[in-house]
Amino acid sequence: MRFRGKTALITGASRGIGAATAISFAQEGALVGINYLRSEREAREVLKRIEKEGGEGILLKADVSSEREIRYAADTLSEVGGGIDILVANAGIYQRKKVDEITAEMWRRTLEVNLTGAFLSAMAALPHMRSGAMVFVSSQLAFRGTPHGMDYAASKAGILGLVKSLALELAPEIRVNAVSPGYIDTDILSGDTPEKRRRREEEVPLKRIGRPEEVASAILYLASDDASYITGVCLDVNGGLYIH
Ligand code: NAD
Repeated sequence: MRFRGKTALITGASRGIGAATAISFAQEGALVGINYLRSEREAREVLKRIEKEGGEGILLKADVSSEREIRYAADTLSEVGGGIDILVANAGIYQRKKVDEITAEMWRRTLEVNLTGAFLSAMAALPHMRSGAMVFVSSQLAFRGTPHGMDYAASKAGILGLVKSLALELAPEIRVNAVSPGYIDTDILSGDTPEKRRRREEEVPLKRIGRPEEVASAILYLASDDASYITGVCLDVNGGLYIH
């Protein structure tokens, strides 16, 4: 129960890594703000699971790329929880476009959700945080690049600059870190054929795709007092896929 009495805002928590993170925080005693964009039914399922296990959460509908909406979500959570202790900026999109397919509009939308959304989430949570931790979800593609998603790789690399700068600026009260997942079994990989999935598993030194709960446990570690002397880092959660 590392987070008893704490309040955590998790963006993009209706499914995948965000849902696993919200459930894990609730299991360790936090009141969780479950942010979602459109998938209210899935977000309700996450809340139901949390409440069934005796945890506490509230649903917060907001597009992270809208300053007004994410601010309202953070204000609402803070009112219920008496402040915010933890922000997990997880919401993200991956449009998987090649250089000859991507439009300026697609580029802008990826940057708006993945990078500006992370910035706006931090700015929305910050007035409610006297101390605590922020964890941002980047990607291994921030380091490696990708042949189908320069917008995505650029947005995730941008998050690392945001994290390092916030870590310097918000110390000593607030620690700011990132995780960079490798291949994780969520909707982002749902377009894979069985063959593609086998190739991915083969490529990873630990010989399997990661589970959302395995990213959640790295996020909880960075947000917890166990990481009390860690700020400004990016923790790879990738089964050894990219060692640097
Ligand atoms: P996912 O598609 O299952 O989840 C993404 C979540 O973000 C969803 O809940 C979605 O509703 C939400 N979201 C999207 N746009 C939003 C917006 N504008 N406002 C609010 N919420 C929004 O995918 P996931 O794999 O769970 O992704 C979570 C994070 O992990 C993303 O930032 C993603 O880039 C990152 N990531 C995933 C992988 C992977 O292999 N799955 C690898 C590296 C990084």
